[in-house]
Amino acid sequence: MFIELTDHLRCPASHEESFLVLLPDRMEGRSVRTGHLGCPVCGRAFELADGVLDLGGRPPGAAPSALEPDALAALAGLSGPGGYFVLVGAPAARWRELSELQPGVSLVAVNPVSGVGDEPGLSVIRGEMLPLKSKTMRGVVLGRPYSDDRHWVEEAARVVLPGLRVVGEGAAEPDPAVVELMASAGGVWVGSPHRSLR
Ligand SMILES: [Zn+2]
Repeated sequence: MFIELTDHLRCPASHEESFLVLLPDRMEGRSVRTGHLGCPVCGRAFELADGVLDLGGRPPGAAPSALEPDALAALAGLSGPGGYFVLVGAPAARWRELSELQPGVSLVAVNPVSGVGDEPGLSVIRGEMLPLKSKTMRGVVLGRPYSDDRHWVEEAARVVLPGLRVVGEGAAEPDPAVVELMASAGGVWVGSPHRSLR
């Protein structure tokens, strides 16, 4: 995990949003390979192993993605370096191409397909929610079946920076009370968080 991403992590417990304190055991350059993250509010501790933060639980399995990295970047409105972009499920499998198209954007893979591991340019998180602080990310892409699950759409809408976008690949369009749709075609939708969430 990219060490600077740890500043944007939150405790996954349902109490008020709290940061996590990193206790690194082993670093490689700017990547935390092993360590622990502790919550100062509830005292829970989470392990970082092989660079991956695994919060446990039973996240849904990822269905294949048809999103091309260039289309993905365009839909998400991603241009220019800096910040973090979140790929949930199968779209993370093509993170290298996205990284080449958008150098300087740190990518975060959540519940990627097997074979996608933590390495420079990509941080990997596993869990049943997005353990990221609200309004911190440059965008979120939800693969199938995440985009059809209100909980995940709400999580995506929570973590994106005001005015930025959530992209979903799935059968159903999101609840307009969560994501205000900008466009939807061919099983892919784009929107931004409802104004009440900003
Ligand atoms: Zn906590």
